[in-house]
Amino acid sequence: TKPVHVIGGGLAGSEAAWQMAQAGVPVVLHEMRPLSRTDAHKTDSLAELVCSNSFRSDDADYNAVGLLHAELRAAGSLIMQAADAHQVPAGSALAVDRDGFAEAVTRTLAAHPLVTLERGELTSLPPEDWDSVIIATGPLTSPALSEAILARTGEDALAFFDAIAPIVHFESINMDVAWFQSRYDKVGPGGTGKDYINCPLDKAQYDAFIDALLSGDKTDFKEWEANTPYFDGCLPIEVMAERGRETLRHGPMKPMGLTNAHNPTVKAYAVVQLRQDNALGTLYNMVGFQTKLKYGAQAEIFRMIPGLEEAVFARLGGLHRNTFLNSPKLLDPTLRLKADTRLRFAGQITGCEGYVESASVGCMAGLFAARERLGLALTPPPATTAMGALLGHITGGHIARDDAEGPRSFQPMNVNFGLFPPMETPVKDAEGKRLRGAEKTKARKLAMTQRARADFAGWIGANALTRT
Ligand code: FAD
Repeated sequence: TKPVHVIGGGLAGSEAAWQMAQAGVPVVLHEMRPLSRTDAHKTDSLAELVCSNSFRSDDADYNAVGLLHAELRAAGSLIMQAADAHQVPAGSALAVDRDGFAEAVTRTLAAHPLVTLERGELTSLPPEDWDSVIIATGPLTSPALSEAILARTGEDALAFFDAIAPIVHFESINMDVAWFQSRYDKVGPGGTGKDYINCPLDKAQYDAFIDALLSGDKTDFKEWEANTPYFDGCLPIEVMAERGRETLRHGPMKPMGLTNAHNPTVKAYAVVQLRQDNALGTLYNMVGFQTKLKYGAQAEIFRMIPGLEEAVFARLGGLHRNTFLNSPKLLDPTLRLKADTRLRFAGQITGCEGYVESASVGCMAGLFAARERLGLALTPPPATTAMGALLGHITGGHIARDDAEGPRSFQPMNVNFGLFPPMETPVKDAEGKRLRGAEKTKARKLAMTQRARADFAGWIGANALTRT
């Protein structure tokens, strides 16, 4: 059998290669590291985790990413086998020892008789005689390949900027100044009405803060990145400040619905909110504070915020490239480029977001390519499953054609219950007791995950090819 070529040995490419090799289809896996590097990867291992070591919630009953874990496990995923084998304690989340995890994936694939690992960057579209290719080069796809893909798809942009917000150690926040409160005391699922930490600014403090943002040192952009657009929902704070001195006060720093517990009679002019970032409650991220200020400038400017004078940062904000296709327009339901069906895409470049999501799209792409190579029918997973819901988001299967055609309407997304076809909310629990509020939401999630698992079992049973 002719091999399928996989470009990029990240989360998606590694899983795709594994699915095909386990199905008996030979694979050539091309990974450019260590010969060429990205701005985020540090090792030459396959499936390197570039930032956090968390695969997020492992709860398959009430959490959409936990459900994705369960579906991957049911599909015999290598990424999940390695994650489960290298787990570290993290409450209900699945977190891993990143080195052990990546080494296990690398070792397993390198030892597979049907996998050939080739180190080297693909700098143009694959040669014509590669008749089946999976491109899984991720958010940091090398510039040369990005440009080749851009030219082939005829789109006007492929890369966007995604900014990340700083994270602060809780114990370094001065709670004599800051206070716990959710805006309008709203109690969300699992919340208490006191989920956020709030830091108040008066007018003089706000003005000084805006001046500092406007004059702070910004990160330089590489020339070829200079025209890359931002997501509107993810603008760096200093870009917001440049749009107008009041913009932040009407955006992430709005003071509405918040009363300073230390000084209830004086209304804050602006408020910075922090949200719990880890299960232990030891870390808080600054909500809406994504930034491309230089690290030194960030620490200095953020310590001007009352309550954060002594802040210790677990991570400063940053900006990274996020390369992704306008998939609903460009890809068919089995992830092939409509304009050149020998090319299939997988991972974050298709417009999913996250390690687990990327591995899941890799899993589907691998299964599709293997079945295609073996002359078998291709059936995407049902829309009621987590993988099917994610695929629907990417290929536009579940959205109106008009939306799918609009290039700005498609944005990368984590898996979430909003992507699933809706379900009637159960009104009573198993004992016949009437459900209300948060109980109803919980019952609906459980009904959705039970439906998903049953439907996924049926689909994988009919589509799996794994040879043992
Ligand atoms: P990757 O895992 O990046 O794999 C792509 C691979 O392709 C890389 O190994 C790369 O070296 C290789 N490659 C690129 N171009 C070429 C080429 N031309 N030829 C050959 N090989 C090539 N997600 C989370 O869930 N949690 C996080 O904390 C998180 N943090 C992130 C931080 C940053 C800075 C970035 C950029 C992304 C982050 N993500 C995070 C999002 C995303 O889920 C991960 O980037 C994930 O690794 C994407 O999986 P992937 O397989 O699509 O790409």
